[in-house]
Amino acid sequence: LVVLSDVNKHFGALHVLQDIDLSIARGEVVVVIGPSGSGKSTLCRTINRLESIDSGSITIDGKPLPSEGKELARLRSDVGMVFQSFNLFAHKTVLENVVLGQVKVRKKDKDEAERRARELLDRVGVGSQCDKYPAQLSGGQQQRVAIARALAMDPKVILFDEPTSALDPEMINEVLEVMQQLARDGMTMVVVTHEMGFARSAANRVVFMADGRIVEEATPDEFFSNPRSDRAKDFLSKIL
Ligand code: ATP
Ligand code: MG
Repeated sequence: LVVLSDVNKHFGALHVLQDIDLSIARGEVVVVIGPSGSGKSTLCRTINRLESIDSGSITIDGKPLPSEGKELARLRSDVGMVFQSFNLFAHKTVLENVVLGQVKVRKKDKDEAERRARELLDRVGVGSQCDKYPAQLSGGQQQRVAIARALAMDPKVILFDEPTSALDPEMINEVLEVMQQLARDGMTMVVVTHEMGFARSAANRVVFMADGRIVEEATPDEFFSNPRSDRAKDFLSKIL
């Protein structure tokens, strides 16, 4: 579904993505882990073209990523993104946050978009919060609204960049549970996270990055019980 071949990206002198080859199949859950600064966020951001690449190619459903205009807007709705910082529209209600893209980008009529929004907000457990503003919700609730907003676009894949890192500990699980359910429902997901419990139980594959490279790719069982590279061993010894 998503294929990166020989992708390279620089920020000035920094070679932030180096010869990245990665294919993500439909329905697959790929967890990306690695030390701070290894390029995990940049990798996600290139997949929905928030960042351009210097060489190599990225395709979705066999088609290269568009770089501008309507096609780019469509790509952004096909490739959902959930950030650490929620990024909800502060001056819109919860319901409006989930309705907006459906009407503007997917050209649905307002009633249909609202029905779908309520259904999705129920599904992530915040159906009773529709008329509130984001600031009136807990972090965990806001993040679940952000997930509903991404789902409302019927994306082909959702990228999660440390979706629980900004949350208080007691709210982490409610968000991870929603993500677990999505994984079970067959959503294609790329998840950057430090939640190793989630990686173990939800991932089909773990991708370990260091210094802009994919150093190791394995099933979670293989990776956690028998990491091959010294970088991965070192990383795991610090976080487990
Ligand atoms: P973290 O775990 O801290 O989120 P990360 O693996 O997500 O780290 P990236 O955010 O992808 O890492 O950053 C990789 C490197 O690229 C870092 O050294 C970072 O400082 C640098 N970098 C990221 N974005 C930019 C930018 N817009 N301009 C210049 N350098 C950048
Ligand atoms: Mg990051």
